Amino acid sequence: MAGEIILVVEDETKIADFIRRGLIYEGYQAQVANDGLSALSVARDTPPDLVVLDVMLPGLDGLEVCRRLRAGSDVPILMLTARDAVRDRVAGLDAGADDYLVKPFDFDELLARVRALLRRRGGRDETPVDDVLRFNDLTLYPAQRLAQRSSRSLDLTAKEYDLLELFMRHPRQVLTRDVIYDRLWG
Ligand code: CA
Repeated sequence: MAGEIILVVEDETKIADFIRRGLIYEGYQAQVANDGLSALSVARDTPPDLVVLDVMLPGLDGLEVCRRLRAGSDVPILMLTARDAVRDRVAGLDAGADDYLVKPFDFDELLARVRALLRRRGGRDETPVDDVLRFNDLTLYPAQRLAQRSSRSLDLTAKEYDLLELFMRHPRQVLTRDVIYDRLWG
């Protein structure tokens, strides 16, 4: 499944270009932003399917860009960090990133993460039959729109089910009212 739009946010033009060319070679559409503010405006104009976001950016840093993107969108975000400090990784995940990659990275690994994140996101629209969501004692079977708690089926309205599925697809993540409205009521 190719052709997805991937926004690459990186101020080091050599790295940005390396990623962009690699993604295009793999059949993706790639856009590059060299700083945080232009990343936000590109993302607003052409909503990407995934964002590769460097933490170290001039001006608005990657964490802040991540927070702002996250405030209005659940686009998958893959953070690039030059530092292998646990604190930085945690900060990235706290800011709403879905995954991170430590520089220098192998391009094949970046591709694998990209594919995994896109697959996870794609699951919302074309749910594989074996797709099951679990959180604590809750289990959801999206293909059947069935929810169970401790193996007992829950009697939910369609909207209640949609809301529960939305939350379970974004575990431990704060969803804004706008995002919830947008997803449930279009
Ligand atoms: Ca950088």
